[in-house]
Amino acid sequence: MTAVLPHWIDGASLTVPGARTGPITNPATGEVTGEVGFASTALVDTVVTSARVAGAAWGRLSLTRRTQVLFAFRELLNARKHEVAAAITAEHGKVPSDALGEVQRGLEVVEFACGIAHLLKGGLSMEVSTGIDVSSVRQPLGVVAVISPFNFPAMVPLWFLPVALATGNAVVLKPSEKDPTAANLIAGLWAEAGLPAGVLSVVHGDKEAVDALLVHPDVAAISFVGSTPVARYVYETGTAHGKRVQALGGAKNHMVVLPDADLDLAADAAVNAGFGSAGERCMAISALVAVDPIGDELVAKIAERMAGLTIGAGDATGVEPDLGPLITREHRDRVAGYLDVGVAEGATLVVDGRTVAPRGDAGGFWLGPSLIDHVAPGSRVHAEEIFGPVLSVLRVPTYDAALALVNSLPYGNGTAIFTRDGGAARRYVAEVEVGMVGVNVPIPVPAAFYSFGGWKASLFGDTHAYGPEGVHFFTRGKVVTTRWPEPDSSTGINLGFPQNS
Ligand code: NAD
Repeated sequence: MTAVLPHWIDGASLTVPGARTGPITNPATGEVTGEVGFASTALVDTVVTSARVAGAAWGRLSLTRRTQVLFAFRELLNARKHEVAAAITAEHGKVPSDALGEVQRGLEVVEFACGIAHLLKGGLSMEVSTGIDVSSVRQPLGVVAVISPFNFPAMVPLWFLPVALATGNAVVLKPSEKDPTAANLIAGLWAEAGLPAGVLSVVHGDKEAVDALLVHPDVAAISFVGSTPVARYVYETGTAHGKRVQALGGAKNHMVVLPDADLDLAADAAVNAGFGSAGERCMAISALVAVDPIGDELVAKIAERMAGLTIGAGDATGVEPDLGPLITREHRDRVAGYLDVGVAEGATLVVDGRTVAPRGDAGGFWLGPSLIDHVAPGSRVHAEEIFGPVLSVLRVPTYDAALALVNSLPYGNGTAIFTRDGGAARRYVAEVEVGMVGVNVPIPVPAAFYSFGGWKASLFGDTHAYGPEGVHFFTRGKVVTTRWPEPDSSTGINLGFPQNS
């Protein structure tokens, strides 16, 4: 009998006896290490109701007091980041340095939110009309829900929590049921930092919990990150129920390499961005677009580097492997299946990750890095999100053909161009239909004081995550028009439409 991971509700752990549960698995061994309780619609209702009460008081607390909680949380998370990272490695499988890296990126958003007071300054225009001043303020929304995916169990919640809380909202977090422990650890640290009970709750669960949040009348906004079909569903359902929704979806990120590029730099970047975190990153490079005539040389350099990559458990003693297992057996099989699909579609399998032996337990969900060359534009291997350690190479004759290829897919999350030609890079930045672009930078994740988000089928809604757009998403504007009458300033009776004077 394995332990059941509880929800975090009203500042305490809660397990509901007899409730549905799901397994928590260590992907490096295939062993079920625990269970996670799934929230019912009724439980979500209770949580939202208490969040509404707690959030109202939190939203009225002074900015100074709220900011003090942010600073305390920053210190606690920094001190305990290894504990959070270890939980991620145990349930997600990513190697320790990668797990720590995602907590670090989350910390940067916390640091951004520590300066929230500066971003919540309103505006004031005096004497807009005779004796009349106009000011604008931004206020919290109330209760907001965050629904996160398996691949960043700490970073994605931390894209939203610091900004939503700092701006005075209450948050209900529904993390991925596949690696849920990090969310509980983070919620515990917020409580230790002084966040009042009920302002942040964690409800675990599946579609039932998500659906309950999407239709709940007291949930004002939804921040979702996950696959495109679910993102679309969340956006459509949430907005149909009157909510503000930002739903970040899947990706298929291209790296274009022009003939004048530094090919060693490009090969290093392709390997790092293609196979880091076993390719389970929404900003991973999964399609390499080689502009003639450099294809053969680039593929050879990449294959040479791949020969040195190791796969293995992140908690294994000794030297850390380069990449860990995939999240589930089904996902590993699905990703591996694309290698057969690619061959059937006429591509060339240059490196077959199925032949790479893992270091450690053979029971895990392993797949080594794979390289497929001569992938046809628009083929399944090119067009579909694989979300694993599979790098496709497409050959094109010109820059224009490369640009057209990138813009042909429905996704628009991230992309990179590798070149020494500033003019070509500048043109690509202007012309590519993608939300985040790197120039000789393969994973262009924006710093916390910018905002993160893709275009097209990679984002439903028009507001990106964190940074200034995050502040905008979690607040709403109010404009106040004020007159302080002076003695004898009566305007008399006038039923006409008010005019400025
Ligand atoms: P997913 O869509 O399966 O799950 C995401 C969340 O939605 C989870 O909390 C899950 O419990 C819930 N969910 C799943 N199916 C649902 C349904 N039918 N109805 C309601 N809720 C449902 O995604 P995942 O497999 O956990 O994560 C991987 C995906 O997330 C990839 O497609 C990846 O590209 C994407 N992703 C995108 C970004 C980005 O910034 N655009 C970042 C990280 C991950």
